[in-house]
Amino acid sequence: MPENPYLLLTPGPLSTTKRVKAAMLRDWCTWDKDYNDLVQDIRAKLVQLATKRPDSYTSVLLQGSGTYCVESVIGSVIPQAGKLAVLVNGAYGQRIVQMANLLGIETVVLDFGETEPANPHHLDEVLTADSSITHVAMVHGETTTGMLNPLEAIAGTVKRHGKVLIVDAMSTFGGIELDVRELGIDFLISSCNKCIQGVPGFGFVIAVKEKLEQCKGIARSLSLDLVDQWDSMERYNGKWRFTSPTHVVHAFHEALLELQDEGGVKARQLRYETNQRMLVRGMERLGFQTLLPARYHSPIITSFFFPESPSFTFERFYNEMKEEGFVLYPGKITAADTFRIGNIGDVHAADMERLIEAVARRRFWL
Ligand SMILES: *Cc1c(COP(=O)(O)O)cnc(C)c1O
Repeated sequence: MPENPYLLLTPGPLSTTKRVKAAMLRDWCTWDKDYNDLVQDIRAKLVQLATKRPDSYTSVLLQGSGTYCVESVIGSVIPQAGKLAVLVNGAYGQRIVQMANLLGIETVVLDFGETEPANPHHLDEVLTADSSITHVAMVHGETTTGMLNPLEAIAGTVKRHGKVLIVDAMSTFGGIELDVRELGIDFLISSCNKCIQGVPGFGFVIAVKEKLEQCKGIARSLSLDLVDQWDSMERYNGKWRFTSPTHVVHAFHEALLELQDEGGVKARQLRYETNQRMLVRGMERLGFQTLLPARYHSPIITSFFFPESPSFTFERFYNEMKEEGFVLYPGKITAADTFRIGNIGDVHAADMERLIEAVARRRFWL
């Protein structure tokens, strides 16, 4: 297998291990028992990752990137007469609003700006004032900035008001410990190329079985019909409705085994936290400042302000770091010039050390 010329310090697709990639070096048929059993094993493992008491939960896999899964949930679980409150503090929250608008779903937007966490008290006021809201959607880790939204407090508020909770946990599931049942999450969405460290190709939804069943007939799209996809997987023992990304599915199964071998989500979270801490300390030592204060931060990806120097350009920084063997990520916020460095994937403390040394070597803007 050829060596990678660089390490991806992006929020997905990300650097994966040889073990995961090796699972893709052959071809599989999609209709036989072996493949369907593998799919069923993945589905069961996902629910087990999501909660210690998995009996009332189920999972659905869906072709496409994470966005397809989010859109599948928004379009399949909110009825015509429903009303969705969306907590927004970045591009991914905004994307949910856009989906709901396109689908003609009545929406209330709670916008917290790009650098403040979603506020459960504000949500409480909105839910108290407007009892016609039926569903609440939020992003757990807002990859736009690296913000970790206060999931527990928000989930508590949503449950107190008896609403359905939809969580985009795309960039956190498998990398940050959580329990959907303890939190009261009804629909959680993630994808195979983030913290579980698979390759891109499909996403998945973890749902309260009973709530998902109740959504039959709501879908506004055939290919994104979450209930129909689930029904096929349940009825035909792991069968996808349309062509599935077989290589990606096998790689993902390997990635789940690898996560288990690493020691589970807790061990992975510790590795990510160590990576992120080393990254921030090292960059601060070299004069960089983070966009967010440490208390708002996820251990997934970090936004840094451009250094205050007329000779700094992201393009040159990006190219020089790529030569050094690291691929960085542009910023995504509107209010300031930033870039982002992710630390998830097959990325370890030694990589963070090498990165900081490389940045120190290449400080062309000084
Ligand atoms: C990656 C990501 C998504 C999905 O993006 P895709 O490009 O469709 O994979 C959605 N929400 C968040 C928070 C993400 O980080």
